[in-house]
Parts: sequence; C-alpha cells; structure tokens
Amino acid sequence: MSSSVIDFIATEARFGAHNYEPIGVVLSRGEGVWVWDTEGNRYLDCLSAYSAVSQGHCHPKILAAMVEQAHRLTLTSRAFHNDQLALFYEEIAALTGSHKVLPMNSGAEAVESAIKSVRKWGYEVKGVPDGQAEIIVCANNFHGRTLGVVGFSTDPETRGHFGPFAPGFKVIPFGDAAALAGAITPNTVAFLVEPIQGEAGVVIPPAGYFTEVRELCTANNVMLVLDEIQTGLGRTGKLLAEQHEGIEADVTLLGKALSGGFYPVSAVLSNNDVLGTLRPGQHGSTFGGNPLACAVARAAMRVLVEEGMIENAARQGARFLEGLKDIRANTIREVRGRGLMLAVELHPEAGRARRYCEALQAKGILAKDTHKHTIRIAPPLVITSDQVDWALERFAAILTQDFS
Ligand SMILES: *Cc1c(COP(=O)(O)O)cnc(C)c1O
Repeated sequence: MSSSVIDFIATEARFGAHNYEPIGVVLSRGEGVWVWDTEGNRYLDCLSAYSAVSQGHCHPKILAAMVEQAHRLTLTSRAFHNDQLALFYEEIAALTGSHKVLPMNSGAEAVESAIKSVRKWGYEVKGVPDGQAEIIVCANNFHGRTLGVVGFSTDPETRGHFGPFAPGFKVIPFGDAAALAGAITPNTVAFLVEPIQGEAGVVIPPAGYFTEVRELCTANNVMLVLDEIQTGLGRTGKLLAEQHEGIEADVTLLGKALSGGFYPVSAVLSNNDVLGTLRPGQHGSTFGGNPLACAVARAAMRVLVEEGMIENAARQGARFLEGLKDIRANTIREVRGRGLMLAVELHPEAGRARRYCEALQAKGILAKDTHKHTIRIAPPLVITSDQVDWALERFAAILTQDFS
C-alpha cells in the first residue's frame, strides 16, 4: 500500500468513531459493477453498499436526473409542495401497487415511521387500549440502528449498553409460523419481519412460511410489515421478495436501492388504513420527500425496470448460486441465496470469513463477512454472465484454500 492509502486509513482511525472495521482498501471511483481504489486497482463490488447500489455505481441516467434536479431545486421542506413529490408518489405506487406513501431518508427512519403508524392504527382503527400496542418481531432481525429499533434487536453487540429501551415488542423465532400464532394477542398491531434475513447471513425461511404468516395476520387483524429495505427492488430476482410466495404485505418498507446509491431515500408504503391515520403535524422529516430525493428515486426506479435489472438478477443469481454450489471445498458448510442475495457459510474450523474477504480483495473482489463465518455476496443487478464467471473463478481459488 502506498503512503497516501495508509494516510487515509490512519486519519480515519484518528478522527473517526471506530464503529466500523473496513477492509483495507480506499475507493475513489465506481462504474457499473466495478470500483477502483486510489492506486488504480479495479475490484468487482460484491457488496453494493449492502444492496444500495443495485443499479450499478454512478448509473448515468440517475446521475443525469440528480444533476438536472440539483440545478433547479433541492429542498423545500414539506411546508410547501414541490413538483417532484407527486410524480414520485404516482410512480412508486404504480410500480408496487400500494395506495399510500410516506417518504423518509434512511432505512431506519422508515422502520421507525412504520412502527409509529401501525401503533396509531392499532389505537384508532383496531381499538387497542392506549399504550398497550404490541409489535411482534423475529430473533436475529436487522432493522437499523436507531434506539427504537436496536431495542428489539437480539444481537448483544447491537443493543449492549444502549438501553433503556422502549417496551411493546415481542421476539419470536424466524421462519416459525406456529410461534407467530402463539404470540398474537388482542393487543398485537403488527408483525415486523424481513422476507429474507440479510444481516443475519441471508437466512431464507421455509417455503410456505409467508403464506401462513399472511393468513395469521389477516385472521387476527394484525398488520404484516415487510422490511424490504434490502430484499426489495429486484435484489432477489423479483421486484419485491413477497412475490416469491405470492403474498402482499399491509406495509412495505423500501430504502437502499430506492436511490441507486446516490442519496438516502426511503419510503413506507401501505394500504389506506395505516398511513391514513397520520394527521398534519403528527410525523415528519425536513428532508423527507425533497425534490432532489424524488428526482433521484424516480430515475432509480425507472432504470431498474427499463433496463431489465430485475430479470437479470434472477438469471445471474441462479448462475452465481449454481457456480458456488459447484465449488468443491472443505471450507464450505452451506451456499444459499435467492436472486443476487447470496451467501457462503464457512465451517467454523475454516477460520474467520474476514480472512477470506481479505484474500478475495487481493484477487479483485470486494465482499463482506457477516457473523464471523459467512461471506455475503450481493453484486449490482447489472452484472453479466461473463462477470459472474470471472467472480466464480476467484471464489473457487480462495474457498479451496485454508485460512484457519
Ligand atoms: C440496511 C437495512 C435497514 C436500515 O437502513 P439504513 O438506511 O442503514 O438506516 C433496515 N432494514 C434492513 C432489512 C436493512 O437491510
């Protein structure tokens, strides 16, 4: 590494809070599936900023929409109307089939907004006694980093020494419909769940789980809130992961790829009832729904559809998964995935996944470990067959080595 690279890393360490442990690469440019470091080395991005850059780095059409809008108008606040918000509403509603939209910025804000909305719905529509609303969540969930959200995390790292936390959440195992049936009470307003648990290591529930979940929620008048911030917008090979089981959530959360990585944009989507309970002054955000965000999100949604990225995710995801399954290596415990949301879980004896990610970096691939023994693979949805094959050769070379 050159001295300038070491300077970047050292300066970050000196001034920054150490709440991340980045791999030792300093990136300065990106295009499509590729990123380059300050020394000109090229890497295939197999993280896509945790699926936020699904449309590929610096997509020219999203860039053009952003620059054009930045010249005209960036922020009005919701104290006034702007000429982008209505179009964003219309287009996201048409794309997802939802009735109401609440625009926010980060994913965690969308989750917080959904929690507030379903509680309000519970009191004002379902008739739950004030202050008694319960929300059911799953063990090993990841819904963001705000206090409200980490309060119902089950990961000691995520919640440790950040309390006290808000009450009103009940934790059940993921993928267990009987546990949901047993946890619902007359005060349950919502079940908040990821279609596939991403941060937990790409955990896919058993087939039929969400069909049962949908039936239980409908039968008990419980709002099904699907956190599709990571799984949504084509990542799993369908627009929304719920489509793999042919169900529809009552509330859907989108973020990450909603802006193609240009700008934080998130949204709560719902039927009329849930978001319909919010009255003027009861919830808001200075930047939520700003014209720059709306213009960026509109372009990000448009290219996703126009350029066939969702179909490509299904096709290349299947190719990638097959290729990973064909790698014969004693280090591999399990390969799993849906669309381009993939993971290789290593045997605990094979050593830490981080070591494999560092070795992959040296071969021109950036991937991220999660939970010590899992390598998560989530390239931009614009990846080609040749690029998948190129990546597979490198994964095979690294996974057949022993870093224990
Ligand atoms: C990333 C993520 C979030 C949080 O989004 P931020 O933009 O980081 O606040 C919430 N839920 C899921 C499933 C995520 O993957």
